[in-house]
Formats: sequence, structure tokens, C-alpha cells
Amino acid sequence: MTETLHTRTLIVGSGPAGYTAAVYAARAMLKPVLVQGIQPGGQLTITTEVENWPGDEVVMGPDLMERMERHAASVGVRVESDHIVEVDLRSPPFAVYGDSGCRYSCDSLILATGAQANWLGLPSEEKFKGHGVSACATCDGFFFRGCDVIVVGGGNTAVEESLFLTNFAEKVTLVHRRDQLRAEMILQERLFSNSKISTLWDHELVEVLGTSNPKSVTGAHVRHKLTGTITKLNCSGIFIAIGHSPASQLVADQLEMLPGGYVAVDPGTTRTSIPGVFAAGDLIDSIYRQAVTSAGSGCMAALDAEKFLSSQA
Ligand code: FAD
Ligand code: NAP
Repeated sequence: MTETLHTRTLIVGSGPAGYTAAVYAARAMLKPVLVQGIQPGGQLTITTEVENWPGDEVVMGPDLMERMERHAASVGVRVESDHIVEVDLRSPPFAVYGDSGCRYSCDSLILATGAQANWLGLPSEEKFKGHGVSACATCDGFFFRGCDVIVVGGGNTAVEESLFLTNFAEKVTLVHRRDQLRAEMILQERLFSNSKISTLWDHELVEVLGTSNPKSVTGAHVRHKLTGTITKLNCSGIFIAIGHSPASQLVADQLEMLPGGYVAVDPGTTRTSIPGVFAAGDLIDSIYRQAVTSAGSGCMAALDAEKFLSSQA
């Protein structure tokens, strides 16, 4: 028989938005349940140093997220190791279904499912994923000791991944489709002053090259965006760092959405198009997408949920 777990406030997601919402909801005596998803701790668990979390000059991403989980547990949040596969938002109490077989029912729902890495969509990229093509240098950089690697992208993630990879790789080539990075200046300065990193401007990756047996990457074809000239680069690893997309598939057909797949909320709030359903973090944020802004909107979501529940009493 399917177990049903009822709660006044269910929080889906265990990144900075989810854990912050959970702490505030618990302190508001809402006895929240938080479902962690397949990436407990969220995106910061795949990075190393975080240098812009106020109060910590430097903190390791995974450590910060462990601390958030402990904080949530210490104020009485029930943390569930489950992944939500379906939600029914037609009328409260909302029905939420976990991969574990558990059915959750809740009077208010906070969605904090964050974002996931984007891929280029090349067949050769798909073929070599996990065999030399990765979207996580922190996870896979270690396998490329003494090798040449490529990083694709021009944002903070691409620059941080490039810098991190210099701990292992012999040479890192950052391939970017324009001649200007969008990464923060402080990161750009570190990148340009690192002798192990070179940049290839105005180029796009068009094909991952490799062997089939065993499956491994040997290089890449990159195309000059303006001239069309194709160049072969030799490398053993390719890191795709071209941004993230909001994880909104669960609710895309039930809530009002914004272009790009972000969940729409009333300006200055976390209220979605369905009363009692709130959204926070990268899921609603196409602009800032930071740990601290996610935590901030997680706080707002818990306060908005509390206000909603009081108005229903
Ligand atoms: P996320 O952290 O994305 O967490 C989403 C959560 O939702 C996860 O726990 C996941 O398991 C869960 N989830 C998803 N789908 C489901 C589902 N169906 N059921 C249940 N749970 C689900 N920001 C900074 O401020 N400073 C930095 O230094 C920094 N470095 C970064 C480095 C990298 C490599 C990356 C990728 C991002 C970095 N960011 C940084 C951005 C920051 O990580 C994000 O802005 C922040 O994590 C977003 O928090 P969130 O809670 O909205 O979502
Ligand atoms: P991002 O800022 O959206 O940058 C994505 C990069 O990939 C851009 O340079 C973009 O090029 C390029 N790109 C996108 N699609 C591409 C494609 N199909 N082919 C080739 N290149 C493509 O993503 P991000 O770097 O992952 O950062 C996401 C968010 O997390 C940001 O808000 C960022 O500030 C935050 N973050 C913060 C930190 C930090 O504070 N230290 C660290 C990591 C991430 P264009 O520039 O041409 O658009």
C-alpha cells in the first residue's frame, strides 16, 4: 500500500533555497517536510570554493550545504531522501508523488528544484558523456591529471572550471563562442594570469573526437564562428559549462511559466499562479542565480507560505 505523508508545508529541493525555506518554515511551527531530490545539497555540491557566501571568506560548496542540512534538521525539519516524479496542483491539499512510492499531501508547497547543466546537444557529446565529456570539473577533473582538456563556455562556471582543472591538467583551453567573457572580472583576472590556460575566442565545438573501444576522447573539432574554419584540438577531456536550465518540468503544464522555463511569480513575492504554491531559487530567477539570492527567496517562500496558511485558518 502507498504511504501518504501529510504536511502543512512541503518543500521540494535541497539547495540553498530549499534549506532556507525549511529553516524558516520550521521556526514558524509549520513542521515542514523537505524532499532532497537526486542531488542532495544542490548545485553547490559540485563546486569547490565558494567565496561570496556572506560570513565565510571561503567555504567549500559541499561543506556549506552539509551545514545547511544540519541546520534544517536541528530546527525539526523532516528531511526525506526521495525524488518527486509527479505533482497534482488542481486543488489543495496538493498531491505530490515520490519515486520511492511515497505520496505526499500538503496544504502549501514550496518548489525549490533549482537548475541543471545545459548540453550542446551534439550526438558525439552524448556518445562520450561519462567517457571524457563532463559538465562537472569538480566531479571529474581528477581523471585528467597531466592531460590537455577543453572547457566550453564564457560564464562564471566555465572560468571557475578552467581554473580548477589547472590543478590536474597540463593545459586548459577555454573555447568561447564570442570574444568576451561574461564571467565576473575577478575571475577573468585569475583566468588571464594563469599560464596553464589559453583562450580560443569566437569558436564553437562542433564534434567530439574519440575512440570507441575503449570509449575515450582524443580531441575535438572547433569551428571559427566568423570564418567557418574548422580546427582540430587534441585533448582527453571536454568540460561543457554553458549554463543551466531551471528544473521546472514537474510543473510546466500546471503553473504559469516565463520564457526559458522559469516559474512565474508575482513581482516581489514567491507566489505562483496557484494559491498555496510558492517557488524560490534558480527555478524563478533568470538573472541573479546565486546561492545567496536563492537562500533569500527561500526565506520569502516560507514567509509567503506561512501567511497563506494563516489566511486559510
Ligand atoms: P539548486 O542548488 O539547483 O538545488 C536544487 C535542488 O532541487 C537539488 O537538491 C535537487 O536535488 C532538487 N530537485 C530537483 N528536482 C527535484 C525533484 N523532482 N524532486 C525533488 N528534488 C528535486 N553561486 C554562488 O553564489 N557562489 C558560487 O560560488 C557559486 N558557484 C557555483 C558553481 C557551480 C559549478 C555551479 C553550477 C553553480 C554555482 N553557483 C554559485 C550558483 C548556485 O549554486 C545556485 O544559484 C544555487 O545553488 C541555486 O540554489 P537552489 O536552491 O535554487 O537550487
Ligand atoms: P551563464 O552565466 O549563463 O553562462 C553561460 C555561458 O555559456 C555564456 O558565456 C554563454 O555564451 C555560453 N553558452 C551558452 N550556450 C552556449 C552554446 N550553445 N554554445 C556555446 N556557448 C554557449 O552560466 P554559468 O556560467 O553556468 O552561470 C550560471 C549562474 O550561476 C550565473 O548566474 C553565475 O553568476 C552563477 N555562478 C556564480 C559563480 C560565482 O559566483 N563564483 C560561479 C558559478 C556560477 P554567451 O556569453 O555568448 O552568452
